[in-house]
Amino acid sequence: MENKHLVVVSVDALVYEDLEYAATLPNFSRIINNGAMIKRVRTIYPSLTHPVHASIITGAPAGITGVIRNERLHTEKSPAPWYNFLDEINCDTILHAAKRAGLTTAASTWPLTAKGGEAVDYLVPGILNIYLEGREDDVLSVYREYGATECIMDIIEEAVRRYGYLDAHPAFDEFQVYCAAEIIRRYQPNLVLVHPGYVDSARHRTGVFGGKVKTAIEETDRWLGELLSAVEDAGILDTTDFVVLSDHGQIDTVRKICPNVFLAEKGFIRCDGEGNIKDYDAYIASGGLTGHVYLSRPDDRELWESVYAVLSEMASEQIYGIERVFTREEVKERYGLDGDFSFVLESDGYSGFGGEVIRPAVLPLDNSDYRTAHGNHGHMPEKGPQPPFMGMGPSFKRGAVLEEGNILNHAPTFAKILGVELRDAVGAAVTEILN
Ligand SMILES: [Zn+2]
Repeated sequence: MENKHLVVVSVDALVYEDLEYAATLPNFSRIINNGAMIKRVRTIYPSLTHPVHASIITGAPAGITGVIRNERLHTEKSPAPWYNFLDEINCDTILHAAKRAGLTTAASTWPLTAKGGEAVDYLVPGILNIYLEGREDDVLSVYREYGATECIMDIIEEAVRRYGYLDAHPAFDEFQVYCAAEIIRRYQPNLVLVHPGYVDSARHRTGVFGGKVKTAIEETDRWLGELLSAVEDAGILDTTDFVVLSDHGQIDTVRKICPNVFLAEKGFIRCDGEGNIKDYDAYIASGGLTGHVYLSRPDDRELWESVYAVLSEMASEQIYGIERVFTREEVKERYGLDGDFSFVLESDGYSGFGGEVIRPAVLPLDNSDYRTAHGNHGHMPEKGPQPPFMGMGPSFKRGAVLEEGNILNHAPTFAKILGVELRDAVGAAVTEILN
């Protein structure tokens, strides 16, 4: 068992449509031509990076992992704290399952692994720019604070020296791929998780099939090559399964709309003239193309009815950016999404939701935030281009192709490959693509 290796590369926001071009590149083509593939994988709702990555390593939807958005509920104007820590995932992960079985694990900037030392032997925690602000000259201490493993600090230090400030793509991706490759060379962990985000960043800035996306795919191909070279250098190519997957697609949007403005004007939110919230009866936390509506008194039926009526009317008028309003019960039933919100708003696919509470309510896209960028996500998983899954190595049936899959099956498939037991998965291993 200890001679099995699995490297999982999550290429953020890669979609099936990208593979036509990717197949012309040396490393993507090596995986496409020698491995198995699921062309279109249904992701979870909301289709947001941190919730989906929690589901990829647990096989459970957001209602079970507890990671329902990228950010925690935060009504202040300051940047919201993200779900970052491994212990914020409420159920068993493939990292824990591997550790229980005596395997070694590594994660390089995989979302929600901060302070994850209990389950990650070689950890480069994913740290967002808001945590690095003002500490750009001392990022190593930030990495230590978030749980970077001491024995790989020299690797992280060298990566920082090479690639500098760490939030911008592709420097951040170069950084994490370097770290992962060096960890593979030095320690040959049984499970390695890596998460390059340049394709996602290019889509956000230039649109779903915008001008920068091809460049991002080319760079990603080079990083796949670097990771494959590390596997070869480590002498574990014959025992390594190499997976390339993605978390979600994106949809092109054309405007930013702030539905909290309308709730404030109807008296559900009280704020000062600067837009600082004093208190609220109902507040919408934006997740890009989705929004979670929180009530201050969730058990107050009268409040529930009046907010539902206002949101439903806004949706029916079709000018407020809202395609539909789900109740908490509806998203639980349909998507396994649950939390302490009362409603979920789905964007009309034309508008990204902003969080502001004072006018202007409608603004042009500014790319200042993933929620108001040209390409956007968070939407219902049925919509738009879909993420693929590819696997190459001793466990995968070469040439096996499935048209469709479900992202909740990824973690059980990893568990099957590693021969470990995953406790809380809702999905099941996809045996059709395995030997
Ligand atoms: Zn993502």
